[in-house]
Amino acid sequence: MTLTGAGKVAGVIGWPIIHSVSPALHGYWLRELDVNGALVPLAVARENFARVIRALQQSGFQGVNVTLPHKEAAFALADQADDAAKAAGAANLLLFHANGHIEARNTDMVGLRESLRERLGGLEGRAVVLLGAGGAARGAVLALNELGAAQIHILNRHPDKAQALARALTPLVKSELSPGNLKDWAKVAGGADLLVNATSAGMKGHPPLALDLAGLRASAAVLDIVYNPLETELLKHVKTRGHTAIDGLGMLMHQAVPSFEAFFGVRPKVTPGLRAMLEQTLNA
Ligand code: NDP
Repeated sequence: MTLTGAGKVAGVIGWPIIHSVSPALHGYWLRELDVNGALVPLAVARENFARVIRALQQSGFQGVNVTLPHKEAAFALADQADDAAKAAGAANLLLFHANGHIEARNTDMVGLRESLRERLGGLEGRAVVLLGAGGAARGAVLALNELGAAQIHILNRHPDKAQALARALTPLVKSELSPGNLKDWAKVAGGADLLVNATSAGMKGHPPLALDLAGLRASAAVLDIVYNPLETELLKHVKTRGHTAIDGLGMLMHQAVPSFEAFFGVRPKVTPGLRAMLEQTLNA
């Protein structure tokens, strides 16, 4: 077996971190691509985040993937950031450069975009209903815009947050952003080509999303970015109605591609083998 790379080490940092599938995901690619490296899970509480990042930087880590609750703190401590991280005000990837600079990137947006592109192609001229106005929804607006969506209805339980999101992102996108209340769903359902759930409803330990799908056209597709469980109540319902159902695993796999490449210097591929391994891991 030929090993490439020089024993590069990266981390995934969060609190809690025990449920993270990133070590399994990167581990799969490290083995597949014969790269000599490791991605280690790091359970770090909020108050220790900045201190631990500096220590990892000094210890020769390439960088870290960042998960809850540190994404905003990661963005705040970086010296430079890509456009997606700036628009989100949050980063899921920190890279430690040789000159001591820390670079923040947000690859969630790329993950969602590539996951949708893989299943649906582009969204030119299409109308999308996006549920949620948190960090993931912010990245979703940018991804949907890049895919050419003409209109994005942003519906949130607290509509003021949807309004704030639309105000902040309108100058950055071509798509028309229409904020509203989650209760407005029935009014916009009939015109939607795609429904995206970017709320945490349906996630393990959270209540399922209470949504009546009766008004959704048969041709409409549904993406639920929640990946734990992989088949949410929403997706189960969507499948029984015959819609194209897209789970959150595609986004998860695609957001990891630029991270792996930045850490280990090789661009990995999202393959059916990777999905099968992760499905097994998540279902275990
Ligand atoms: P945030 O905490 O930033 O936002 C949560 C959003 O969910 C808010 O809009 C909130 O509404 C809404 N919400 C929460 N509970 C309910 C409910 N019961 N009914 C309706 N709306 C609800 O979380 P994130 O944006 O960071 O993450 C959202 C989801 O996306 C998580 O499940 C996360 O796991 C998933 N995710 C998946 C990724 C992937 O790779 N597949 C990547 C990143 C995230 P309100 O503002 O009214 O409280």
